[in-house]
Amino acid sequence: MKIGETTCKSIINSSGIEGVDYAVNPYIGCAHACTYCYAKFMTRWYHKGEKWGTFVDVKKNARDCLLKEVEKRRRGVILFSSVTDAYQPAEKKYGLTRSLLEVLVDHDFPVEILTKSSLVTRDMDILSRFDEVEVGLTVTAFDERVRRAFEPGASPIEERLDALKLFSDTGIPTYAFLGPLLPYVSEAGFEDLLNRLAESVGRVLVDRLNIKAGNWRNIEATLEKHYPEMLGEFKAASKELSAYYDSLRGKVRRMLDDRSIPHDILF
Ligand code: SF4
Repeated sequence: MKIGETTCKSIINSSGIEGVDYAVNPYIGCAHACTYCYAKFMTRWYHKGEKWGTFVDVKKNARDCLLKEVEKRRRGVILFSSVTDAYQPAEKKYGLTRSLLEVLVDHDFPVEILTKSSLVTRDMDILSRFDEVEVGLTVTAFDERVRRAFEPGASPIEERLDALKLFSDTGIPTYAFLGPLLPYVSEAGFEDLLNRLAESVGRVLVDRLNIKAGNWRNIEATLEKHYPEMLGEFKAASKELSAYYDSLRGKVRRMLDDRSIPHDILF
């Protein structure tokens, strides 16, 4: 992993993501190296020609930028993060996300976290000081084999579920982002996963896999290595018009309704 330092001109960016106003991305790149990552398009501008998941740049002046910008921006929900993971391994050393949260809590900005790392539990003390906060963990499958194949740098699934339970037990609102659900491979143990989430999240968001931002080549290579027998079916199911996802939508909705888990299915 190549870790470098960089500077940014601004750190609060307007966001088109539903339910949030802004996104803060403390890092460029992401060591979680998910094979389906939609943020891979960032290599058009940064680290051209390098493989996504092999570099991380730390925005070392992010806190100074934020201190200026919070005075000018209208109050709104800030998502950590949209094109990186704010709790990837570099955060353990640099504490950049933590330093930004310290500024935001003092300025009373609402915050929404979405991460695949149990490192987020380190910041429980700050997160519990926000008046408006929600902590989300992404979980694409209950099967650790899927995690190792598709999200090699992210926290093990059990750690993510434990993190959600910890926040929930502390009274901090939580959610799980179940996405992208990967054709067939995410289905193993899916009901057991929902049973666990029923005890620890206020809501779940569910999304399908989209083939975009040049992610297919990586996905294909992962399938060839770990699930060669599923390559054909997986590819067919991933098409934009997909009978597989049409059917999955109804199945997932029923499972969530059976457990009375509030949800939004985004496909
Ligand atoms: S954690 Fe998110 S940003 Fe990081 S590689 Fe995975 S999908 Fe991309």
